[in-house]
Amino acid sequence: MALVNMRDMLYHAHRNGYAVGAFDLVSLEFLEGIMAAAERCSSPVILSLAESHFGYFDFELIMPAVEAAARRSPVPVAIHLDHGADLASAIRAINLGCNGVMVDASHETLPENIRRTRKVVDMAHACGVPVEGELGYVPGVEGEDAERHPGEIVYTTVEDARGYVEQTGVDFLAVSIGTVHGRMKGEPRLDQQRLEQINEALKIPLVIHGGTGLSDDQFKRLIAGGVAKINYYTALADAAATQVRNNARAKPGGSCTDLTEGIRNVISAEVERCMRVWGSVGRAPELLARCTPWTPVEHLIIYNTQGITEHDVDAMMAEGRRVLSAIPGVRKVATGKAVEEAAQFRYCWLVSFVHPAVIDSYREHPAHVAFADSVFRPVAGERISIDYQVTDKEHDIDRH
Ligand SMILES: [Zn+2]
Repeated sequence: MALVNMRDMLYHAHRNGYAVGAFDLVSLEFLEGIMAAAERCSSPVILSLAESHFGYFDFELIMPAVEAAARRSPVPVAIHLDHGADLASAIRAINLGCNGVMVDASHETLPENIRRTRKVVDMAHACGVPVEGELGYVPGVEGEDAERHPGEIVYTTVEDARGYVEQTGVDFLAVSIGTVHGRMKGEPRLDQQRLEQINEALKIPLVIHGGTGLSDDQFKRLIAGGVAKINYYTALADAAATQVRNNARAKPGGSCTDLTEGIRNVISAEVERCMRVWGSVGRAPELLARCTPWTPVEHLIIYNTQGITEHDVDAMMAEGRRVLSAIPGVRKVATGKAVEEAAQFRYCWLVSFVHPAVIDSYREHPAHVAFADSVFRPVAGERISIDYQVTDKEHDIDRH
């Protein structure tokens, strides 16, 4: 399995002078094309899901496919929420399997951006999940996605960036230095000096949004200036659209699958081109040796009850599944009854945490404290509780 800690991934890239592509996907063809390129190139990759695209696919349905692609892959993969709207979006994304989140309050005033970002950072770090913040504003000019980012460019300043990172605790910072969301109009002009000053002041991995349309040389200079993550979508969407138009011309009466044929390949080719320019090709083995694998924890409780009916037990389990599954970092809350009625412990909770950090934050979470103290513990005096870090077949790869 090669789902890895995104913080380890991006700090490695930052230290070693390359950038990891964060490719927004909107369908299974995108997912397959991106992963095929990463595996062909032995490159780390970030599978990115933008909240503004959630109208194009069902986030909850696509996440198991994204996670399966990451876990079965031999290259290091992280799964990222791109442009999350608020704290609730970030919690939902983490509980569905994202192990990096971006909160975008860059359209707000600086104090409000700091306040909102800080809340997300506190929650996410308690789940072991790193956070990307954005300071300054990257507008959209034209092309797919441009309209989602209205307004004028606001450049990131060094002083604001220093204060923002200190006060929010973000792990990575998206900066505005002249790129735009969507397609460029004319020759993009990037403020390289500003980028280098920010990098010098912060010494954390920087992120560029609006990578489409930059030249190879511009990308190389960005990476030399501290950019370790490049968000990339519009060029992939354009390549897919061109492929569909070509298919329609070649087969005017073609079926749906005739029209979508080859999307995966054109996306894969463009992703590979980027990985070559950005220097992430061939980095998978050294990165895997240095990254912490992203390994869930199973929190298991087996128990017997006293003084309540079977009906009360069912009601308590239903309430627990509802209340506890909303806690940040909780993937799943399952309840069970022993198959053999004479089993030593009649009931169980199986709570899946995204990361070992959740063991503590879950225990202290007010919703858990209230449920455990007033509902569960009073009726379940006889119980055993153990946290297991889970290994399965795919974890057995020896990479040392
Ligand atoms: Zn963006």
